[in-house]
Amino acid sequence: MDHSCDCLVIGAGLAGSVAARELAERGGRRVLVLERREHVGGNAYDCFDPAGVLIHRYGPHIFHTNHKRVHDYLSRFTAWRNYQHTVVASLPADKGRMEIPVPFNLISLRTAFGAESARELTSKLIAAYGAEKKVTILELRQNSDPEISALADYVYQHVFLRYTMKQWGQTPEEIDPNTTARVPVFLSEDCRYFQDEYQGMPLQGYTPLFERMLDHPNITVELNTDASARLRLEDGQLLLDGAPFSGTVIYTGAADELFGCRYGRLPYRTLDFRFETHPVDFWQSHGTVNYTMDQDYTRITEFKHLTGQELPGVTTIMKEYSRAYTGADGEVPYYAIINDANNALYAQYRAEADRYPNLRLLGRLAEYKYYNMDAIALRALELCDDLLK
Ligand code: FAD
Ligand code: UDP
Repeated sequence: MDHSCDCLVIGAGLAGSVAARELAERGGRRVLVLERREHVGGNAYDCFDPAGVLIHRYGPHIFHTNHKRVHDYLSRFTAWRNYQHTVVASLPADKGRMEIPVPFNLISLRTAFGAESARELTSKLIAAYGAEKKVTILELRQNSDPEISALADYVYQHVFLRYTMKQWGQTPEEIDPNTTARVPVFLSEDCRYFQDEYQGMPLQGYTPLFERMLDHPNITVELNTDASARLRLEDGQLLLDGAPFSGTVIYTGAADELFGCRYGRLPYRTLDFRFETHPVDFWQSHGTVNYTMDQDYTRITEFKHLTGQELPGVTTIMKEYSRAYTGADGEVPYYAIINDANNALYAQYRAEADRYPNLRLLGRLAEYKYYNMDAIALRALELCDDLLK
């Protein structure tokens, strides 16, 4: 056991790894990182499956950001493959199936309605909102023009309603509006899922990126170690292995777990992933295909499109099934369910954490937020700016 650390970081995902590196390198602190899983990288972890295909074990991860600081920082630990993520929705059609770009854009409009109708609708939409503009589906549904309103209804029914019901068990109106706003209707022919300035995949994968980030003489990583076995919280004082610990503790796990879920569990959605390996070069047309009208799964990702891995004659795909998180062993809380009641419950845990002056909550789980990777990296950098000033 290492009692000689100055800082304790719980969780070796992006939040914990960036924070650990900053405290070790910029701050000269001796950092102990505890990670309950058998690997680093958190949900961005990737590895080779038995067929030799590089897969993302916890769901497809595509890096994208407009934050130069984040891009430059991560670029210290990886080179990038220039990959621009594209997604289509697969819909039942008169003859078999039809694929339309998601976010729904001017190409989707042409594919679904034919060139002539699309031309008129495009002019109307651009007159109403402007070219290259993004309009959320909930905003579009407010439009009183009968043709735009009919189009909004089509997009709602064909892209959003069932996918959202599968993903959240609720309608688009019932969930946080920022969630569907992530995938707005885009009045453009740009078929990329993200328009961020920096976008790509770590050239050798995410796990080597994390390994390099954590490879520093001031950092010790202990895997297969749940923090609850080492850290106790007692009346405003943190105890590490039973002894008072006055160094900084950065906690990136779920906030409710830190306090034994004493106010009740924070609600989450979890995912079941089904991997399939097939003896073909490629299984589907795009990196991700969303099933917005049928099937029990929400989407299928084919990793070779994302990673660019050249491996003829074999490919691995992954189907995602969403359901309520119960806290059972082995389940992962992937998506916070953001609403007023859950935010209020989270605030109770946050208030508990605030009683410990040297404890900081950081990350998608600890902050109960729907953060992308770049937002987490930025928060970790800014937290360390604050701690090291
Ligand atoms: P995590 O990655 O969850 O890491 C937290 C770590 O803490 C975990 O390794 C966990 O095991 C560990 N831990 C928790 N409790 C304890 C404990 N008590 N003791 C020890 N260790 C503990 N973002 C993008 O930018 N692009 C994408 O394409 C993208 N796709 C996604 C797809 C899915 C299905 C999901 C769920 C998320 C996706 N994200 C994506 C978001 C991305 O996963 C997160 O932003 C990022 O992983 C958050 O990092 P984190 O360190 O906060 O959390
Ligand atoms: N969404 C949808 N249909 C789609 C894509 C997204 O209804 O084809 C909605 C759905 O509610 C989803 C949200 O938009 O949860 C955000 O989608 P995103 O792809 O950003 O989700 P993530 O990749 O984080 O799972």
